[in-house]
Amino acid sequence: MEDNKAFHHRQLVKLGDMMGDGLHLEPGGKWISQEYKKIAQALGLIPKRKRANNSKAINERMAERVKETPCTFCKGELKQTRSGSMRARCVECGKLFGLLKRAK
Ligand SMILES: [Zn+2]
Repeated sequence: MEDNKAFHHRQLVKLGDMMGDGLHLEPGGKWISQEYKKIAQALGLIPKRKRANNSKAINERMAERVKETPCTFCKGELKQTRSGSMRARCVECGKLFGLLKRAK
């Protein structure tokens, strides 16, 4: 749908102008930045699932960290709480540990 894409592009420019004027920061103007994001995603200008790639890198680093870090309470083995998480739980005593710091 080429027409649809052209329409989206026009909308994006229009919304971009409005944001340039700071309208999205005014009361009731939140939809402007939301709509902008939605259209930009529809056009493939910003990736929809950035977190998915991120969690893979986290999992790999976490796999290293749990290997070298025993539980500080009972020396038990740590396991990542869930995929993409920076926290690990001791399999023995259940204590939670933050093993990674979120990169800025
Ligand atoms: Zn423990």
